[in-house]
Amino acid sequence: ACLENDISGTDNKGFKGHDMLAPFTAGWQSTDVDPLIIEKSEGSHVYDMQGRKYLDTLAGLWCTALGGNEPRLVDAATKQLNTLPFYHSFWNRTTKPSLDLAKELLDMFTAKKMAKAFFTNSGSEANDTQVKLVWYYNNALGRPNKKKFIARAKAYHGSTLISASLTGLPALHQNFDLPAPFVLHTDCPHYWRYHLPGETEEEFSTRLAKNLEDLILKEGPETIAAFIAEPVMGAGGVIPPPATYFDKIQLVVKKYDILFIADEVICAFGRLGTMFGSDMYNIKPDLVSLAKALSSAYMPIGAVLVSPEVSDVIHSQSNKLGTFSHGFTYSGHPVACAVALEAVKIYKERNMVERVNRISPKFQEGLKAFSDSPIIGEIRGIGLILATEFVNNKSPNDPFPPEWGVGAYFGAQCQKNGMLVRVAGDTIMMSPPFVVTPEELDELISIYGKALRETE
Ligand code: PLP
Repeated sequence: ACLENDISGTDNKGFKGHDMLAPFTAGWQSTDVDPLIIEKSEGSHVYDMQGRKYLDTLAGLWCTALGGNEPRLVDAATKQLNTLPFYHSFWNRTTKPSLDLAKELLDMFTAKKMAKAFFTNSGSEANDTQVKLVWYYNNALGRPNKKKFIARAKAYHGSTLISASLTGLPALHQNFDLPAPFVLHTDCPHYWRYHLPGETEEEFSTRLAKNLEDLILKEGPETIAAFIAEPVMGAGGVIPPPATYFDKIQLVVKKYDILFIADEVICAFGRLGTMFGSDMYNIKPDLVSLAKALSSAYMPIGAVLVSPEVSDVIHSQSNKLGTFSHGFTYSGHPVACAVALEAVKIYKERNMVERVNRISPKFQEGLKAFSDSPIIGEIRGIGLILATEFVNNKSPNDPFPPEWGVGAYFGAQCQKNGMLVRVAGDTIMMSPPFVVTPEELDELISIYGKALRETE
């Protein structure tokens, strides 16, 4: 049944012309278009209001790593709701689940020793918190001018004012008067799209590291506070780094005493086939952002991990600077923390990293087998994250006219055939739940192939 979903003539029972200003939905038109209303989830599948079944290849929004109906997460939430639905973590009052989760995350992150965890409600708030921590740190060190941030073109770091400024996507800036002036953007590390003729991946990485150094020198190293990067770029188009990229970038930022922030919001907890993206690329961050799979999205929660070097400065100077006056009512929300603790326990108990490594070759190789299609320029990915880019003549410099809507057509064919993908222009992105089964991957590859034939 799920191969022949008819998405025309949807009866949304009165939700057409709805009252919600929907996020990231084509402006105010959202009220004129029938939304797809998802009502139920089960493993890697979701169901709409008409009972149609879809394979959810984006795991919600890169987040429901344990799939749709993990009873242990429901039990953890219920138990906590019945015991203590809420207490805050301000003014040296807190709750046990938040303390336990902080300890657990510090133990788990081994790419570099981390000393403290700060809780937020989302990835955007985690990245906003990073900026405030870094500024507070440089104020504590008596370096009031070392405040600028360098992020990368096509990065996605969130949609609050500060995290949207760090984001390197024009759509997040235009009409909002962003980015904020303290944010600079350096190159996107997409080898296929941006390498020069004859340039190897290593040479491309060397050039990007040199461009970063040139930017730092032009601005003045004494003004640059931090560099932020996703180990694999996610929403900007699933862009794994080229060979030696992070080695070379880390040498540059270290040389100028610039903090490295790893935005692990998508990459953490096994997505790439290592517990954290930092493990995959030998990144030694000073600060880490987490969210999404942290609770497998059953509750909203984000976190910032802080290295001892940063935390010690803040701690030792706090008498001089006063209280770190930052936080949210729901920082360390006990229900969110209880669910996240259980999610993390499940990742470890079920050896999710090993599972991702076992099943991801089928996902990667099964889809990369379509690379010869005349409308595909590149299929790229690692572990359980992948993107397909449609172009003319297999060339990154020859996009299809946007009005053809090639990506949107492919996405609609997938949906019609029972599968949801993320469409961004002519780039199609996927990051299935870690619990996706080999049979579901067969289904995914089969629907992808059918949609591709229909699109060609
Ligand atoms: N950072 C990364 C790498 C993300 O992918 C996202 C969301 O997609 C965010 C930050 C923002 O997280 P949130 O949407 O929870 O605010």
